[in-house]
Amino acid sequence: MLVKPKFKQKSFLILLAVPVIIITSILVVLGSLHSVRKVTDNADQLVTLQIPELRTISELQSVLNRQLIILHGYYATTDAPDAFEEKRLDESFKSNLKTLVDIGQHAADGKLLVSYVENYKKSAENFHNEMQKGRGRDWDILREHLAEASAYAQQANTELTDWNQKVRNRLAQGSSQTQKEVENLNKIQITFNIAMVLVAGLLLIIIYFRMRDQGKLFHSAHFEPLTDLPNRRSLQLWSERLVDQHNSTNPFYVAWLTLDRLGLISGTYGHIQGDALINKFSRSLEKILDYCQVDIYLFSIGSSNWVMVIKDAEDDNLIKQIIAQIEKLTSKPFNLEERDYNISCSIGISKTLTHEKDIQVLLRNADMARRSVLDDGGNNHRFYEPEMTDSAEKLLSVENDLRNALEKEEFELYYQPKLSKQGEQILSAEALIRWHSNGKIISPGIFIPVAEKTGLVNPIGDWVLRQACTQWVEWQRAGYAVPSVAVNISAQQFQLKSFINTVKAVVAETGIPPEKLELEITEEAASARPDLVVSVMDDLKEIGVSLAIDDFGTGYSSLAYLKRFPIDVIKIDRAFISQLHISEQDRAIAKLIIEMSHQLGFKVVAEGVENHEQLQILQSMDCDLLQGFFFSRPLKVADYLDYLSEMASKH
Ligand code: C2E
Ligand code: MG
Ligand code: MG
Repeated sequence: MLVKPKFKQKSFLILLAVPVIIITSILVVLGSLHSVRKVTDNADQLVTLQIPELRTISELQSVLNRQLIILHGYYATTDAPDAFEEKRLDESFKSNLKTLVDIGQHAADGKLLVSYVENYKKSAENFHNEMQKGRGRDWDILREHLAEASAYAQQANTELTDWNQKVRNRLAQGSSQTQKEVENLNKIQITFNIAMVLVAGLLLIIIYFRMRDQGKLFHSAHFEPLTDLPNRRSLQLWSERLVDQHNSTNPFYVAWLTLDRLGLISGTYGHIQGDALINKFSRSLEKILDYCQVDIYLFSIGSSNWVMVIKDAEDDNLIKQIIAQIEKLTSKPFNLEERDYNISCSIGISKTLTHEKDIQVLLRNADMARRSVLDDGGNNHRFYEPEMTDSAEKLLSVENDLRNALEKEEFELYYQPKLSKQGEQILSAEALIRWHSNGKIISPGIFIPVAEKTGLVNPIGDWVLRQACTQWVEWQRAGYAVPSVAVNISAQQFQLKSFINTVKAVVAETGIPPEKLELEITEEAASARPDLVVSVMDDLKEIGVSLAIDDFGTGYSSLAYLKRFPIDVIKIDRAFISQLHISEQDRAIAKLIIEMSHQLGFKVVAEGVENHEQLQILQSMDCDLLQGFFFSRPLKVADYLDYLSEMASKH
């Protein structure tokens, strides 16, 4: 089953939101506390000041009233009360008045009150003295003192009532202020609550959008936009985790898949089509993998590359089944917007057991296996083998040495003669490059493929062309009857825009007659881009050089193109010559090639003639030129010149 890796997104925004909400709450609490403190202050004032003040005032009033009642009783009965209350009045009045003055709000009122009470006391004193006169008492004077005392008591009472009223007013004022504070408190609370809700809301909105943006960023950092599959970065993160967690004894598989020739499709039909193809192919891959029993991870790691990671497959069967399905998918034309595309893919597979846990090694090995498929033309799959690493390392070391070989003049040309049908005349010689590297002679079969991969084949090829032409002219000047010289041209050289000019320049600069120069291009290279090849060949023919198709029979050139190639020579590949005397089939093929070439007006060279039997067969087939160890191996210049002289002297 296809599993999509999940990644946890770490968000610091939530962490940011928490302190903001805490700070807002603290502000609300502080605001409320401030108002509460104000209300409490008011209430405290009420309890600690005004209530005792009122209580003291009413105490004083009741003392005064009681005094007055006692005084009237005294008048009515003429009996002096047991304990005339004057002293008690004094004490009680003094202590209450002190309390009032201590509360400290009405010192002026206190003085007035004291004077009324003093006056009352004087009148009451006078009243008592008059009463003590017994029968000689004057009732009019008594009434006068009583009235006076009553009036003072009344005045003191009125004063106290005023005082009482003032305190009450203050109380009312205080309570309305308290009410106001409470209202304020409510307002503050509501305002802060609203503010907090707004802040929290705003914060949540910001967090939501930021998280959404972050989510998008996060997605694009981990998923390939075109295929919406986990990308190379995800592969890195996830596969390491998978390998670490992998503890079963089953192997762990990594398959690297490339869609072949996608560049060609994009180049021909446009990148939009190319992208759509990649997308559709991804979906098809997903479907294939979804049916599998075990967990499979699919990553899209660049335009036309995918990596599958499979864990817990018991053996190679599962991966083989998957690959068979993929190959079945690509064997049919891929339909996209009513157009059929022929696609194919190259797959490299590496597998490991539990103790080998380096995902990088697995990936590198799968990649190496895939490259080896690509090197062989793609459209295949291959399991990694350790030799692949060896050959890759060899390639690297060869590449490094090869870069300096031209400067160090380590190349040499050997010449292998091509003889006439009867073997009596040298009609041409093929220049074959040799590399003197670290005391060894390295054959072109080893380093030319490396030079092709690294682009070094162009400067090397230019050197071969110039050297062969220069030597030809030198030998001719030296008096040798030099036959034509054939130079091998790689596909890359042939496709260079500058190639025609290079040939022109070399011919002009060296002075070789162009018809004495033969250029060999392999059938494989000629059939890769036949249109371009035809046009380059036409230009070369204008220069006047001779053209040959090398290794004929191994490529896939169509007869239609063969007819259009303005060539002079076809070289039958050694593969058909080596078994000629044994294989009837090879004889039939060689005969067919020779006859067809003659029909098309080409001369035929047989490569790799090694024995007399082969020679006889080829002669019987009317093959025009013969090349092979039977006549001569590729020779060093001096030997070649000796061979030329020898042949010339024989005939
Ligand atoms: P080729 O162009 O097909 O050259 C013929 C190869 O067959 C030569 O190998 C030659 O030594 C070998 N050969 C000739 N007769 C016989 C025979 O009777 N028996 C056997 N077993 N082999 C025979 P060589 O020199 O190793 O070159 C291999 C290939 O390297 C050439 O195949 C050619 O494709 C390439 N090459 C050689 N020199 C150059 C060069 O200067 N430039 C480029 N681009 N390629 C070159
Ligand atoms: Mg050749
Ligand atoms: Mg050949």
